[in-house]
Amino acid sequence: MKLDIMGLQFDNVTMDEAAARAEEILAGEKTCYAVTPNAEIAYEALHDEKLRALLNGADLVLPDGAGVVLASKLLKTPLKQKVAGVDFADRLLSILEKTGGGLFLLGSKPGIAELAAQKMLEKHPELHICGMNDGYFRDEAPVIEKINAAKPDVLFVCLGAPKQELFMKNHLDELHVRLMIGLGGSLDSFAGTVKRAPKWMIRCNLEWLYRLIKEPKRFGRMLRLPKYLFAVLGKRIRG
Ligand code: UDP
Repeated sequence: MKLDIMGLQFDNVTMDEAAARAEEILAGEKTCYAVTPNAEIAYEALHDEKLRALLNGADLVLPDGAGVVLASKLLKTPLKQKVAGVDFADRLLSILEKTGGGLFLLGSKPGIAELAAQKMLEKHPELHICGMNDGYFRDEAPVIEKINAAKPDVLFVCLGAPKQELFMKNHLDELHVRLMIGLGGSLDSFAGTVKRAPKWMIRCNLEWLYRLIKEPKRFGRMLRLPKYLFAVLGKRIRG
């Protein structure tokens, strides 16, 4: 079931339900794309109709972050839980390991995808990573060709928002994959070049604070979180 949270149609699913949806998609014929908006992107989408359409056009819209889940509660249409993109990606690795499907890693600075692949294989030794490409390319055509030649079932698109959403939507018909998913900086996280917050901070919904302390230059971007919640409160008060 979809829930409208400030104009974005989120799938109201638990992590297990999201994984089941992915398995259905992988068993199907269609090329699907998934997005994982957090509060920062949701705030941008409030004022950007094109971005909203890009996100709502996805087959799976997962709430990546405590901010969106809090907004859903404030609006009295609560989402079941946060389904962080990087955690969902990890579930996809387990699914692919089981089914034997191929994975292509696209994005991040040169060398990062290789490092991420190494770390993924340490945890999922049976995983078939069939190709990778960094995210700093000028021509898209050779990259699309390279992806198709590798014949992946799943494509991780880690170019940051909204570049990754545009890439997926624009090339939906050309890319011969089952499921592609926009995952922002997740390859950096898999590679270990950007560490995730300690478990207690994730549990207390303080992952954003951890990232802010580690990367203070994100401060400007992160101001979108309180601005988003302010807009949510405004909507709740106006009804
Ligand atoms: N990136 C990329 N190509 C670009 C711009 C960015 O591959 O042209 C990568 C960047 O190296 C990083 C990710 O996209 O790995 C974006 O990370 P960020 O943490 O900003 O993601 P977001 O918070 O937007 O999901």
